[in-house]
Amino acid sequence: MPIPGQLNPSPRLLLGPGPSDVHPRVLTAMATPLLGHLDPQFLAMMNETQEMLREVLVTRNSLTLPISATGMAGMEACMVNLLEPGDKIVVCVAGFFGTRQVEIAGRAGAATTRLDVPWGTVFDLNQIRETLTKVRPKVLSIVHAETSTGAWQPIDQLGKLCHEFDTLLLVDAVTSLGCVPVKLDEWGIDAVYSCTQKGLGCPPGLSPLSFSPHAVEAINKRKTKVQSWYLDMTMVQHYWDADRFYHHTAPITMIYAIREGLRLVLEEGLEARWARHLKHHRALKAGLNAMGLEYSAAEGHQLPQLNAVKIPAGVDDLTVRKKLLNDFGIEIGGGLGDFKGQVWRIGLMGHNSRAGCVFQVLAALEQCLMSAGCKVTPGAGVAAANQAYAAA
Ligand SMILES: *Cc1c(COP(=O)(O)O)cnc(C)c1O
Repeated sequence: MPIPGQLNPSPRLLLGPGPSDVHPRVLTAMATPLLGHLDPQFLAMMNETQEMLREVLVTRNSLTLPISATGMAGMEACMVNLLEPGDKIVVCVAGFFGTRQVEIAGRAGAATTRLDVPWGTVFDLNQIRETLTKVRPKVLSIVHAETSTGAWQPIDQLGKLCHEFDTLLLVDAVTSLGCVPVKLDEWGIDAVYSCTQKGLGCPPGLSPLSFSPHAVEAINKRKTKVQSWYLDMTMVQHYWDADRFYHHTAPITMIYAIREGLRLVLEEGLEARWARHLKHHRALKAGLNAMGLEYSAAEGHQLPQLNAVKIPAGVDDLTVRKKLLNDFGIEIGGGLGDFKGQVWRIGLMGHNSRAGCVFQVLAALEQCLMSAGCKVTPGAGVAAANQAYAAA
């Protein structure tokens, strides 16, 4: 076989559900020469990363660290550490990622109760209260930002409710962290997992986790060992704490990346970052609506960082996405699960939540819709976004 050519991918603008474009400062940080994973300088960076992660998660939880794997491993780590075979869990399912939580909880041997709402909608606290009253589970899990539907689940009062029933609240913040508020302590979240490639503007590869003192107590009281050796937090934590007990080799370059990504979040400020995501979402939404596209998530519950819109009748999903990619270098997402072939998902996450991205995707999408035979007033999307910015 001839040696494949040197790496030279086409330029892309990643406006799908993740990965999103990596901030240039993170790319630079990743080109830094390696340190040994137990080098005192690297250990100091691990500490700094944990400290910054606590600030970004608005928590004082001491067990806060990024595990060396993607968001799905974070989901699995939370489930297998909190649940022992036979433990009861209620999983709130409002989309594709909720169904994955059900699957993983089941594999962990938990007695799983599934609570469903139609895709694109969100849960009402009373509905959850009813189920908690009946089931009295050890854990309730929910997805904060359901990436498959673009729906934004309100969770700020949920911890208080769960704690009335002695239930631990587990939250998927994979698509929310770095984009919209996630306040662990104030909201009473007991366990959370996220990722690096969506709102934090880093490549995929780490999953930030945090456990409340209650969750840690539950893990310490386990009668059985966590069935996953690699994801066993009772071991992983000793690599990150003062013991520095060798568990696995930290992916040094990814720690450089998240450290820079977190520095960027804190430099900008959490409030300013959340406001930025809202501002660009409003402009994009005005533009998409002006082109006749409707959101698939209920009004009032639409995520700023993940804009899921219904594909107009008669328009072929793949034809449009292929043209966007091949002619304009823009990647957006198609639908998942129940929404396959029915929605497009446009991400404005982290570094990509900016006006340039909004205008590029609106202008390019207009061309693609027109060649797909859609009636679009030329320039309407871009003009509406411009108006939204002027009014902001
Ligand atoms: C992307 C995503 C995941 C999975 O994360 P990976 O990094 O792809 O493993 C889990 N939950 C939600 C809500 C997501 O959007």
